[in-house]
Amino acid sequence: MRLTQDPIQVLLIFAKEDSQSDGFWWACDRAGYRCNIARTPESALECFLDKHHEIIVIDHRQTRSFDAESVCRSIRATNPSEHTVILAVVSQASDDHEEASVLPLLHAGFNRRFMENSSIIACYNELIQIEHGEVRSQFKLRACNSVFTALDHCHEAIEITSDDHVIQYVNPAFERMMGYHKGELLGKELADLPKSDKNRADLLDTINTCIKKGKIHKIHRDSGDNSQTEPHSFRYKNRRKESIDVKSISSRGSDAPSLQNRRYPSMARIHSMTIEAPITKVINIINAAQENSPVTVAEALDRVLEILRTTELYSPQLGTKDEDPHTSDLVGGLMTDGLRRLSGNEYVFTKNVHQSHSHLAMPITINDVPPSIAQLLDNEESWDFNIFELEAVTHKRPLVYLGLKVFSRFGVCEFLNCSETTLRAWLQVIEANYHSSNAYHNSTHAADVLHATAFFLGKERVKGSLDQLDEVAALIAATVHDVDHPGRTNSFLCNAGSELAVLYNDTAVLESHHTALAFQLTVKDTKCNIFKNIDRNHYRTLRQAIIDMVLATEMTKHFEHVNKFVNSINKPMAAETEGSDCECNPTGKNFPENQILIKRMMIKCADVANPCRPLDLCIEWAGRISEEYFAQTDEEKRQGLPVVMPVFDRNTCSIPKSQISFIDYFITDMFDAWDAFAHLPALMQHLADNYKHWKTLDDLKCKSLRLPSDS
Ligand SMILES: [Zn+2]
Repeated sequence: MRLTQDPIQVLLIFAKEDSQSDGFWWACDRAGYRCNIARTPESALECFLDKHHEIIVIDHRQTRSFDAESVCRSIRATNPSEHTVILAVVSQASDDHEEASVLPLLHAGFNRRFMENSSIIACYNELIQIEHGEVRSQFKLRACNSVFTALDHCHEAIEITSDDHVIQYVNPAFERMMGYHKGELLGKELADLPKSDKNRADLLDTINTCIKKGKIHKIHRDSGDNSQTEPHSFRYKNRRKESIDVKSISSRGSDAPSLQNRRYPSMARIHSMTIEAPITKVINIINAAQENSPVTVAEALDRVLEILRTTELYSPQLGTKDEDPHTSDLVGGLMTDGLRRLSGNEYVFTKNVHQSHSHLAMPITINDVPPSIAQLLDNEESWDFNIFELEAVTHKRPLVYLGLKVFSRFGVCEFLNCSETTLRAWLQVIEANYHSSNAYHNSTHAADVLHATAFFLGKERVKGSLDQLDEVAALIAATVHDVDHPGRTNSFLCNAGSELAVLYNDTAVLESHHTALAFQLTVKDTKCNIFKNIDRNHYRTLRQAIIDMVLATEMTKHFEHVNKFVNSINKPMAAETEGSDCECNPTGKNFPENQILIKRMMIKCADVANPCRPLDLCIEWAGRISEEYFAQTDEEKRQGLPVVMPVFDRNTCSIPKSQISFIDYFITDMFDAWDAFAHLPALMQHLADNYKHWKTLDDLKCKSLRLPSDS
């Protein structure tokens, strides 16, 4: 069937050529139609079945050669003629004859009568009137029929409502998904659907409750099978207006197990959303699977649905069994935002105004760095690189120096098409906006995260999975990821009602600020705008990647990121290596979704890699983070704010215990997963050694960083 009409095709059926057939021929020519002429009924039918003309003109003036009405009937007997307009050319009624009725012509299958007139313009007018009227309507009708045929076979549930939301049509998939039959739906208001079924208790909830109680194995609706089938189909038949498939209704009613008769009120609501979310599709698939499953499977799937309906799919439920205060403090302190809010105590966030007046002359290029620094940086590619030594020799400006070295190693300036002068100015601006007064979240932490990120980027599988744009984005993200960090946690800022918390609605407050400020600082001044020479599309992609990575460092999403990584990267990889020897890279390029997960995991691991550093470095970091948390607790007490992490009280805190909890809760699983991907045996060894260190201290009831004898 054709749904487009370019050009119109006309079939003339005239036993012999005369002025009338010529008139139509030239009229077609003038109208731009394609025209065929057939002399016999046989050739006419053959030609029509070949071309499916939109208009057929049959000579009805004389009956000697063929009977026009039987020709018309034979064409009408074919399927394609359903949408064809057939015209009968009849003789002028002579004066003494009364004009004949058109009824016999209509009965024969003609649509119109054309009074013999061989003028080209008369034929032309007739043809274009037919085109603009009936032919166009027929095309719409064809399109409409095809759409409904398609809808009937479509697997997506589709309903059509009137302007006032009254259901006019539903397709079989809709009936299946909703558990209602067409007859029950037509004429109802869509919004009323879930509550219009008088028999329906909230069945799904009932099932879930019953399963939880473990009481029943088979659920009957209160109007179960036995009583349901008869009145149900009766109601249906009474209401139907158009053709229905009674057979399918009754078969569904009779031999279906009771579970199939359930209604899904929540589905109705979900479906009435205009855009279908992935979770809706998942639930639809499960619902469909339930339809043909044994009761036990359907029940299990009900439990699956119950879990899926929660929003925090990736966050573990914090059980009451783990009462370790260190863990719960860390969870409360790091994984919540505005959970505990207190009004009135305004924490005014202090901008870092002290642009350090370093005595150290800034290098012009990476080649001009002082020898002491250059020498240290020679070892920059090693995991055991000592960032605190760099901090010391650079007078707390490690980020500029390490940045210059690392960015040049990865060809960042070439990629961004910017000069090293611009890069240096940018690194200086970013570093100046870290607070050197913070015990932990200062530019040394940023340099440390940059170092770890660069190290991870050098790992074979990471390198093989990412593009250069990802590398550049990751290095930039690491550099800026904590810029202007106030040395307080998100929870603190929310409780204190800080400007930032208000600005970002208590949601990912710090991470949003780091990202936003980084871009503000970068584009504010062309001297330090490392993005100034890349085109708009590149910039957008790069910016997106940087934002995504910095936001991924937010701890409330920790388990979501880790679990997604495990499910999408680790598990397929493990399956692949088990299944075959093929060394093809399941996570590699051309999988942007996976690249995103890898980048998030990379910066997350880089951000909290302290427990995987050599023991001395690990201990120094533990001391710094504890000091920053102690300072927060001090301030919370001073200001009468809720104390977010009570265990981090400098008078009572056991640092080994807090480290053990942090490693147990956040680090072990994440680095196991990251190691399985990136292969990092040295880090895992450090992690084990450091863990042992903290355990030893804890066993000896030591609360500080080292045994007294060691320090
Ligand atoms: Zn950080």
